[in-house]
Amino acid sequence: MDPSLKPVLPDTAHVNAKGHLVLGGCDVADLAKEFGTPLYVFDEATLRKRCRAFLQEFRSRYPATQVVYASKAFSNVALARLLQEEGLGLDVVSGGELALARRVEFPAERIYFHGNNKSVEELRMALEYRIGAVVVDGLGELELLERLAAGWGMTQDVMLRVSPGVDPHTHAHTTTGILDSKFGIPIQTGQAEEAMKAALRSPHLNLVGLHFHLGSPIFELEPYRVAIKVVLEFAASFTRQGFQMRAFSPGGGFAIAYLRDTLPPEIGEYAHVITGALREGCERHGLPLPQLVVEPGRAIVGPAGVALYTVGAIKEVPGVRTYVAVDGGMGDNIRPALYGAQYEALLANHMDEADEQRVTIAGKYCESGDVLVRDALLPPVRSGDLIAMPAAGAYAPAMSNNYNMAPRPAIVMVKDGKARLIRRRETYEDLMASDVL
Ligand SMILES: *Cc1c(COP(=O)(O)O)cnc(C)c1O
Repeated sequence: MDPSLKPVLPDTAHVNAKGHLVLGGCDVADLAKEFGTPLYVFDEATLRKRCRAFLQEFRSRYPATQVVYASKAFSNVALARLLQEEGLGLDVVSGGELALARRVEFPAERIYFHGNNKSVEELRMALEYRIGAVVVDGLGELELLERLAAGWGMTQDVMLRVSPGVDPHTHAHTTTGILDSKFGIPIQTGQAEEAMKAALRSPHLNLVGLHFHLGSPIFELEPYRVAIKVVLEFAASFTRQGFQMRAFSPGGGFAIAYLRDTLPPEIGEYAHVITGALREGCERHGLPLPQLVVEPGRAIVGPAGVALYTVGAIKEVPGVRTYVAVDGGMGDNIRPALYGAQYEALLANHMDEADEQRVTIAGKYCESGDVLVRDALLPPVRSGDLIAMPAAGAYAPAMSNNYNMAPRPAIVMVKDGKARLIRRRETYEDLMASDVL
């Protein structure tokens, strides 16, 4: 296999004697035959290795670290079980994600509930399940949660999500920690101060700490360092009012390699900067070291997932470009159309042939913007070939939809030459199941 592909593919990836891509010991051509395409393939070894790498890299530098997986990157019952086995916690952002956590009996104390507009029903679910902490995103939510907790005569641990006003230099659609954002309570405007005072006064809310999340994916380390400094300074200003910061979270946003020549920092580098800035800031302000909560989503599932498509129509526009259409597209992966996300494309059943033509991988949906990869360099492509798109595990199946009444793909987990279905392909019947005549 071309060694430059190593950063974008799962750890177990290699090419067999037939020139086929092999993932978790399974030839992708066999997977396509057995499960059909489009197909999402998750490599179990890579998933577990990345969970362990986050735990190890952070805890070796800062023992009191909890690694909490951000469910929104990809929610699935088999995945939740695996994360539980690996000792991770779970971030949820909706009643649906919380329902999944309950279904697999995920330990409630390791669940954190985020979101800029949690409903009354969602907050009730969180209280009822006695989750670890609700990460409160505004004064209104704080008052609502206080009323609900008071009504049930209970006390709920909360963290406040503040907005530190730091730009992580990622896409505008995925930037969250700046002043002009729907997420977080701004420090700059004095609203975060107001929320702190209200939380400290609330008899039924126990303010355990502060949270921020800058956006995603963040390829730079400096924004974390700067934001941690800002938030710790803010935290320290409440010491005299009795605030004891027991937990602190710089969120997630850790980048992954989508393209072979755009490499993100190592997990250890993020860990080094974050734990260093936290220690330094706490020392400067005389704060006891809190529990550190890191929330990777993309960085856990992204590199473990590969999308597989079958090539159908090929349209050559002489002198312009060649469109290679595959049997999926914006229905299973809307990221390229939504914010210009880039991926590699590989000819998965001819990995041993030399790249010699530029083609554009188009989807099958009725939108001109439904293009998965522009100008991919590939060996000669024929109808019936298999295209693999690496690093597709995060925010692709998670954002999938049924545009054009297309059933969502099947998802398999591969390990040691065996593939198990973790989500069956939708049927046409599924698509009509909630319609009422
Ligand atoms: C989305 C999100 C994350 C995870 O982001 P990734 O880029 O997937 O790591 C973590 N924390 C919060 C609050 C989020 O909204």
